[in-house]
Amino acid sequence: MRNLLVIAIVILFAACSAHKGKLLQKVGYIEAGDKKISLSPSPKNTLSISYFQCGGICIKSGNDVVLVDPFASNPSVVSKVKTDTAAVGLIMKGINPTDIKAILVSHSHYDHLMDAPYIMNTYCPQTTKLFVNHTGVQIAERLKVDSARIVDVEQPAGFSSVSGNIRVLPIVSSHPPHIGNTKLYDGEYRPNTKPAQKSFWRCGKPYAYLIDIMDGTEVSFRLMVQTSASNKASANLPDSLLKAKGVDVLVMPVALYSKTPGYPASVLNIIKPKYTIIGHWENFFRPYKKLTVKPYQVAGGTDVMAFAKTMEQLVGKDKFRIPMPGSSITIDY
Ligand SMILES: [Zn+2]
Repeated sequence: MRNLLVIAIVILFAACSAHKGKLLQKVGYIEAGDKKISLSPSPKNTLSISYFQCGGICIKSGNDVVLVDPFASNPSVVSKVKTDTAAVGLIMKGINPTDIKAILVSHSHYDHLMDAPYIMNTYCPQTTKLFVNHTGVQIAERLKVDSARIVDVEQPAGFSSVSGNIRVLPIVSSHPPHIGNTKLYDGEYRPNTKPAQKSFWRCGKPYAYLIDIMDGTEVSFRLMVQTSASNKASANLPDSLLKAKGVDVLVMPVALYSKTPGYPASVLNIIKPKYTIIGHWENFFRPYKKLTVKPYQVAGGTDVMAFAKTMEQLVGKDKFRIPMPGSSITIDY
């Protein structure tokens, strides 16, 4: 009986989430397919940002690839946490594994970290570095990632070069509560839990990242990626850093945004990006493959439409994008 009730709720929720997605598409907030934009009247360079889902993106600049929170396994609300190798294959399609210089992980919840150890061990060359919080370091080591390939972002080191042309800066962030004031799977690594349990994937300390594309000693393109609705990372960015080079593109999430007062205006007012990519808007309890096609599946408990309207008021409709999982945006700058 209890199982029937769970199935009924899940079906109802999926239908409702698809309906919301269709509305978002109808008003043009979600566009299918790839996109090309220019951030300069006379661009000299190009990079691309592909959107996986949740906090997951792939940044390609020349022969350098940086992944953030790569995740495709999408266990359902009730199922165990297990890497779906076919789904991971879908997000890795089109990426030359030997180009992957780094995987940056924002925090250690399963929807951000769970596929990264598998990708490190299966796809990446030995030189790829995994940047993750201290809880994530212990999780990755338990999942057999060589500790020499892991960077503990809680050890302050300023900018780290991940290739001749890319440097990254971890920035202390925070994570909003999921239900009421409760944050699920909060706290640090617990050795007595198992990877198949969602509770194994404790959040640890959340981080955002500044990712700079370098032209010699100059920053030619600056990207900021935050994967939880938080005012902390933008407040923690040193003013002098922003004055020296503004943020070209900001990647920020919708999920749980109503739990963070002032967000997203609070972040946009400080960062003032030229363009914003909105992530973590889809229902990641659905299989990844289904999220890449119509009808669009919207995350539960989050008013993506209201968020999109707010974004339109704050930055204008042509200055942000809610990408479909699996789509990419090419940026001339
Ligand atoms: Zn999380």
